[in-house]
Amino acid sequence: MKVIVVGAGPVGLAAALALLRRGVDVLVLEAGESLAAESRASTLHPPTLEILDELGVIEDVLRRGLRAPTFAYRDRAEGHVATLDLGLLAGDTRYPFRVQLEQSKLTPILLGAILQAGGDVRFGRPVTAVETTGTVHTGTGTHHADWVVAADGAHSAVRRSLGLPFEGMTYAERFLVASTDEDLTEMLPDLAAVNYVFDPVDWSVLLRTPDHWRVLLPTPGDTEDDAELSRMDGRLRSIADPGRPWRIAHTTIYRVHQRVAADFRAGRVLLAGDAAHVNNPLGGLGMNSGIHDAMAYARAIADPGACGDDVFAAADRRRKTALDYVQTVSHQNYQRLSAADPGQRRAYLDEWRAVAADPVRARASLLRSSMLASMPAAS
Ligand SMILES: Cc1cc2nc3c(=O)[nH]c(=O)nc-3n(C[C@H](O)[C@H](O)[C@H](O)COP(=O)(O)OP(=O)(O)OC[C@H]3O[C@@H](n4cnc5c(N)ncnc54)[C@H](O)[C@@H]3O)c2cc1C
Repeated sequence: MKVIVVGAGPVGLAAALALLRRGVDVLVLEAGESLAAESRASTLHPPTLEILDELGVIEDVLRRGLRAPTFAYRDRAEGHVATLDLGLLAGDTRYPFRVQLEQSKLTPILLGAILQAGGDVRFGRPVTAVETTGTVHTGTGTHHADWVVAADGAHSAVRRSLGLPFEGMTYAERFLVASTDEDLTEMLPDLAAVNYVFDPVDWSVLLRTPDHWRVLLPTPGDTEDDAELSRMDGRLRSIADPGRPWRIAHTTIYRVHQRVAADFRAGRVLLAGDAAHVNNPLGGLGMNSGIHDAMAYARAIADPGACGDDVFAAADRRRKTALDYVQTVSHQNYQRLSAADPGQRRAYLDEWRAVAADPVRARASLLRSSMLASMPAAS
């Protein structure tokens, strides 16, 4: 059995490692000359930690990452609203906490384990086309495999070469992410490691990574980046004011989409991660659900009792999860944080206070936000 994985992002590398651990021969083809170093996804949810445990890399992940046992809801005007404690999931998972670790720190851990397990990862190999038979073309050669896992990101060349539509919508505003060297807890002492802040205009997320705090803010869709960067300090100082300009380590402004491929499979080719589905970052579901795709495919492909139809069924289940869970929850998070109607916003804040105060409701809510509820036993 041979599998070609296209793309060495977190999803492709998780798929490759999961297949290698099951004795499958894997070739990873990555367009870049090295792993991507950009600051992007940064939250690992409990089911993803369980997968990383199964893949044998959890100790590195826990050592390099930051444990986040709680997350909080805040209102921009009123401050702290409610704290949700993942400890309530102690009976549901071995990892009742989130780990904050940027994907640029996760991918070297996965790559190291793949190389140690004898995996073949080739950089500088952009895939240009894929056939449904499992034939993969790069600029320099052709490879053949029993299965191809396409994890080549949102602009997936594989998805395009198969002619699969990427249906959905684009948010009107762009998202600005500023990584800062400020210690936000000095200015806002009641912050959790992850904080969702309600406001009809300047809603935000304040989250901690091992090296920085990050602030995510909505930004108009039609302005110049330079104009947004020049007004950024004023916006940040309206969140917390150190009495001088914030020390900024890194900034990204990007357009955000909610899209799901029309099919996650075409013959012997399976789409995973951003190649298959993209969503807004509110709730940190994108990379996590991509890693769940990777694991579901690896389990189905390597199962000695499984046939092609079982693999197709795994892809169909992952598409249903992307539509019914990931797209729904991430968009709901956006709608709630940015609710414009004061009565509606008040109702959301009151609901979070009530949920946090009731362990039964809090556990039910946490099962959903932590993605445990999106993980049927078979995937
Ligand atoms: C700017 C930005 C900020 C983000 N911030 C957040 C966030 O804060 N929180 C969050 O949850 N999510 C965030 N995301 C989304 C998150 O980063 C993705 O969900 C995650 O990276 C998906 O992983 P992936 O492996 O599927 O794709 P990617 O990480 O995109 O990896 C794809 C890999 O495929 C390679 N590749 C591309 N084309 C080819 C080809 N033709 N042949 C071979 N290789 C190819 C690429 O070089 C890359 O290494 C952000 C995304 C962006 C773009």
